[in-house]
Amino acid sequence: MIDQHDPLDDEFPLGDGVVELDAEVTCPYCGEVCLIALDPGSGEAQEYVEDCQVCCQPWVVTVRYRQDGTAVVQVDEA
Ligand SMILES: [Zn+2]
Repeated sequence: MIDQHDPLDDEFPLGDGVVELDAEVTCPYCGEVCLIALDPGSGEAQEYVEDCQVCCQPWVVTVRYRQDGTAVVQVDEA
């Protein structure tokens, strides 16, 4: 029997070019859409505070990477 399962599918795909490095988010304060940089090297699940580029209010940014390297990004009022 040949195992068709590719073991690479189980690994977090760091460094192979498919990981999302930025995301568009909508500011919960001013409603502006901003592009923020992501840091996949900080792990699959992250939460940090970042200021809005437009109104300078603090966001709580929650980032979660899926297995395919796409990022789920959410911003909330701090
Ligand atoms: Zn804002």
